[in-house]
Amino acid sequence: MRALVTGGAGFIGSHLVEGLLKRGAEVSVIDDLSTGSFDNIAHLEDHPGFQYTIDTILDEEVMARLADGVDVIFHLAAAVGVKYVIENMLKALQINIRGTEIVLDVANRQKTKVVLFSSSEVYGKANSLPFHEEHDRLLGPTTINRWSYAAAKAIDEILALAYHREKKLPMVIVRCFNTCGPRQTGQYGMVIPRFVKQCLLGNPITIYGDGKQTRCFTAVADVVRAVLDLAEHDAAVGEIFNVGSESEIAIEDLAGKIKKMTGSSSTIDHIPYEKAYEQGFQDMRRRVPDLKKIRELIKYRPEVSLDEILESVIRYFEA
Ligand code: UDP
Repeated sequence: MRALVTGGAGFIGSHLVEGLLKRGAEVSVIDDLSTGSFDNIAHLEDHPGFQYTIDTILDEEVMARLADGVDVIFHLAAAVGVKYVIENMLKALQINIRGTEIVLDVANRQKTKVVLFSSSEVYGKANSLPFHEEHDRLLGPTTINRWSYAAAKAIDEILALAYHREKKLPMVIVRCFNTCGPRQTGQYGMVIPRFVKQCLLGNPITIYGDGKQTRCFTAVADVVRAVLDLAEHDAAVGEIFNVGSESEIAIEDLAGKIKKMTGSSSTIDHIPYEKAYEQGFQDMRRRVPDLKKIRELIKYRPEVSLDEILESVIRYFEA
């Protein structure tokens, strides 16, 4: 199998590339290194089945060339992270909407299967939990920058559905729930790498809001396995799947756990959202996936516990 991974030098992308190579695929990566890093793929440089291009997915000619003859495109190239999206709203919208349009357009020329990486963010602050793929979504006003990411990802999904329904383009959509693990950076806002780094450096742990908001953290290894299984399954075509874990933890408990595991003397600071992000910032209180659909199709079950995830992230930052 020949695969193209957009955003392959990113956190999830680089793990996916390793998973594909392990399954015997030939893999080519395109990444502009805006939020990804060459360090994430440097160890793969001499692998015979691996190639990379440092360029933007916004260049249609480059994308058409790279997509030529591949069997599947995993589309991960995107502006990610709540902090990054708020600070780079226009750039994020351009890459997340125009970039996906280009990927779908070049894929459609040879009807190449696309696996589109979407996000649990599309559910917004909906409060009927757990989130099922067919549930209503609830986003705040357009004036709050945070919601621009959810809006862009929803447009990406709708575009992919339109290509599938009208042009018979094979595609699968995955909605990832708080994926984490080694190589994820806290630079763009993600909480686990931030807390781990703060603890290891003895800096204050920055809890935003009251810390009672919850998330279900998912190991990148579980996400990669699920995505590769979905990509190989004919019945996944045209469908949307939640990919995550059902094990929920409050952010303040996460902070306590990381502090204990690192033996850190860091203090815990509570920072108001508007100071951390922007005036009027809105967060979701809880976010839990309904995993029935993916469980039924590929027998998916997350295998890596939160403790194991945290141990691997701590080891990564220590190294
Ligand atoms: N968060 C926090 N401190 C930080 C970074 C994030 O308390 O230094 C909170 C954030 O407000 C959110 C949760 O942790 O409630 C998860 O944030 P992340 O950006 O990792 O993911 P998302 O908000 O997309 O779920």
